[in-house]
Amino acid sequence: MHIASGAAAGALVRSPTAAALVGATLHFFGDRVPHEDVASKRFEIWCGVAGVFVLAATRGPLDPATVGAVASAAPDLEHVVRLPRPGGRKLFPSHRIPGWHRPGGISAEAQLFLAGALFGAVFAAGFRR
Ligand SMILES: [Zn+2]
Repeated sequence: MHIASGAAAGALVRSPTAAALVGATLHFFGDRVPHEDVASKRFEIWCGVAGVFVLAATRGPLDPATVGAVASAAPDLEHVVRLPRPGGRKLFPSHRIPGWHRPGGISAEAQLFLAGALFGAVFAAGFRR
């Protein structure tokens, strides 16, 4: 969901720099929306990698949609890769605020459906260019 929303926002702002800022900001607020996490971290990772790869291949690696997707997904790398944790806390602001990430709310299935729809819109717009 982070990747799809970042890609869609990036495609809308049309500037790689703005896409990076909007992508990271979307991640921050996306973490606040109550949601279920996808049960399989492996599935989530591979969907993300595939999504970014397809974006980079179809729109270009520096296209705002690609940059927005990467910027929106990158903060969660610290859940997968062991990064420095100053004071034992994670790096990204939304991961540091206790209670910011709330369970419940949007189901994993609904998020996948929405992510697919956003991706579809971004790809369709990319092919029309
Ligand atoms: Zn996060």
